[in-house]
Amino acid sequence: MTSTENNGLLIISEEVCAEVVSRKDAFDAVEAVFGAMARGDAYNFPVIREAIGYADALYGFKSGFDKFGKALGVKSGGFWPGNMDKGLTNHQSTIFLFDPDTGRLQALVGGNYLTAVRTAASSSVSIAHLARKDAKVLGMVGAGHQSTFQVRAAVEQRDIEKVVAWNPHPDMLPRLGAVVEELGLEFEAVTQEELGAQADVIITITSAFEPLMMADWIKPGTHIACMGTDTKGKMEIDENLFARSTVFTDEVAQSISIGEAQHAIASGLIAEDDIIPIGAAINGDHPGRTSENEITIFDGTGVGLQDLAVASVAARVAQKKGLATQVAL
Ligand code: NAD
Repeated sequence: MTSTENNGLLIISEEVCAEVVSRKDAFDAVEAVFGAMARGDAYNFPVIREAIGYADALYGFKSGFDKFGKALGVKSGGFWPGNMDKGLTNHQSTIFLFDPDTGRLQALVGGNYLTAVRTAASSSVSIAHLARKDAKVLGMVGAGHQSTFQVRAAVEQRDIEKVVAWNPHPDMLPRLGAVVEELGLEFEAVTQEELGAQADVIITITSAFEPLMMADWIKPGTHIACMGTDTKGKMEIDENLFARSTVFTDEVAQSISIGEAQHAIASGLIAEDDIIPIGAAINGDHPGRTSENEITIFDGTGVGLQDLAVASVAARVAQKKGLATQVAL
């Protein structure tokens, strides 16, 4: 799909998104847009997220413009905690793509699968650029909806042999374990301290509001991707770890306000200038990891441009394969 074509409105269902956007597609799209952000070619607009006072729901918008990739649009949706009982995922979203040359609505794209695959691509990009090359053990803190997408993407970046996992609700671990075993890897449910001792790469993907991993449990050389904290007040790791780590993020403005770094910033343990956009490492403007003993943190806050990047792939491929529903506007 190019910005000048007029094909009416394309509608891309959840099922079609899952069929046409692979993990590799998502990785490439997210890596490219992080690079564009660091070059100043792509911008995220301020996030709106509100409790609507109905169904305990949080609803909001994530929006942006990628001048380089020509993606303009918004992801609208949020979190409905009662959905699980209705057989639906709690996170619900839709991505709207607009023609940047005319403002015309181009596509409505289901956002649920794409959110999971783009969030997994984000930690996966961080692992590709920041984890030690010899990383063998992945530690998973979290076992909810996103966790299986995270594992599948992460193990493709290094020669991972084993996944160790801990979750505040242990009954959720067998579902994650089954996916790990399906991937042909060893799985072990462990304590948090044991997870820190074994893991070379850690992903945190929970809804926690207090630290689940303490600084002293993280061994030298670990890469830790903090993916769960995307709202003010949420927290997954001990803020003291920031003072002894090199800190990267998708978007500095979000990292200091709604990301994992918000607490270390508020305590004065690090300053905004200490946080490096991962796009700088992708573009070669920052060396990334500089020693085998360095601890690297990736604060993956989740930006609208990631959603637009993968939705653009979905719209383009679905249209090409005749899988998009087309409506005259
Ligand atoms: P989920 O509801 O399926 O799973 C929730 C996870 O958090 C489980 O591991 C659960 O045991 C744990 N948990 C629940 N309540 C907790 C609490 N009070 N304290 C500690 N842990 C708790 O959710 P999900 O879809 O897997 O999403 C996990 C997190 O990732 C959410 O916080 C979500 O907002 C966030 N998320 C971030 C991005 C991003 O781009 N960074 C994208 C999507 C989701």
